[in-house]
Amino acid sequence: MSSSSAPAKTVLEPRILSRSEHGISRNDISDNALKVLYRLHNAGFNAYLVGGCVRDLLLGLKPKDFDVVTNAEPEQVKELFRNCRLVGRRFRLAHVMFGREVIEVATFRGHHQSDQDLGKQSDHGQILRDNVFGDIFEDAERRDFTVNAMYYNIADFSISDFANGIGAIEQRKISLIGDPETRYREDPVRMLRAVRFAAKLNMQIDDAAAAPIKTLAPLLTNIPPARLFEEVLKLFLSGNALQIFRLLRQYHLVEPLFPILAPLLNDSNSREISFIEQVMQNTDERINNEQRVTPAFIYAALLWYPLEDRCQNLMVEGGFSQFDAFNLAMGDVLDRQTKRIMIPKRFTTVMREIWQLQNRLPRRFGRRAFQLLDHPRFRAAYDFLLVRAEIEGGELEILADWWTQFQSASPEQRKTMLDKLRDTEKAPTRRKRRYKPKKAPK
Ligand code: ATP
Ligand code: MG
Repeated sequence: MSSSSAPAKTVLEPRILSRSEHGISRNDISDNALKVLYRLHNAGFNAYLVGGCVRDLLLGLKPKDFDVVTNAEPEQVKELFRNCRLVGRRFRLAHVMFGREVIEVATFRGHHQSDQDLGKQSDHGQILRDNVFGDIFEDAERRDFTVNAMYYNIADFSISDFANGIGAIEQRKISLIGDPETRYREDPVRMLRAVRFAAKLNMQIDDAAAAPIKTLAPLLTNIPPARLFEEVLKLFLSGNALQIFRLLRQYHLVEPLFPILAPLLNDSNSREISFIEQVMQNTDERINNEQRVTPAFIYAALLWYPLEDRCQNLMVEGGFSQFDAFNLAMGDVLDRQTKRIMIPKRFTTVMREIWQLQNRLPRRFGRRAFQLLDHPRFRAAYDFLLVRAEIEGGELEILADWWTQFQSASPEQRKTMLDKLRDTEKAPTRRKRRYKPKKAPK
């Protein structure tokens, strides 16, 4: 499609590195990606690997996935592959399925006018629809960072580097293609991507790309909450969550993502920060050891202190019992958070369980200890308690140690532990409700 009427176009000239001038070998590329590239090529289309996989291969990292671009349109791609689905509204793409591996095949994107139906922009300059096809030059210009605009050509195994991505890799710089402010306005999620790549690739966001972030961070509130859930998940499950959390704070990106958490992070020595950093560090360790991580745990941690605050507030100002205040506060905190980030119900359910178990873990008398051990969320709740204990010490530490011992104790030892509890602590009587619930304060 022609792009002669497109706004402010600067054609990027690629530097071509021939097969002998770069270190990417076909052995490093997934067989399925190669199959897709060859079939497109043999059908007479141009076919390239692009983006993160080329960047990662040049850095000696293992790519997470292999993305293909071509001049074939999605319908033409579909005709070539039986195992192909067309997906996406914002970007129409072909997915070629090989069991668990999906090779994403995109058609070169082009420029578009803001009033065209195929491409659409919001009042903030955000791109809402992006289905104008173009050539490789336009496609390169529309990519986010210079390290992400390198194309590996299956026709001759050369690399086309459109924005000096090779130079950026050498200097370890995350640089935006084009004018940073315009590019962030087009898609505010690029601010999160900058932070993610800086952490993942161990690079610096260059001054030009870093400067506008603090000012433009609020634009993230225009991103649909479901997309933000996906993007934020990539941040926290990247294996670099601790560093990313620090960068999010540094660039004022916490506020638009977690508005009820941000006010609690002003003091850099606070327990709130220590707690979240500890959780992020544990998450990174688990990811790097290929252990399972649930987003519910991470979100439960991010919102734990806002939950405690809200609960206190409802007790002190609303006159609610601890039990009622806690339940109301869980609802409030989740309502406010999911307006920004759409946490799916299957995770909010688990978050509530982890939180509620924090109140139940101190109450171990009689059969309760065994019921708690059998609770499907016991392990997560116990891990959560461990981090709280590490940060706050005191009674929580004693409680956490008790549970650590109890889990590995023999039946006799467990009985002794429970007997001892009965001796040293008075069994709690059922708490009577002293106050009638009033309306929650605003
Ligand atoms: P990784 O897969 O390691 O997270 P990636 O760079 O491959 O990193 P993807 O989200 O898989 O990231 O996107 C693939 C490529 O598509 C990117 O390298 C970039 O060229 C382009 N791209 C993705 N998202 C955007 C965006 N929001 N704006 C512009 N280009 C983008
Ligand atoms: Mg990728």
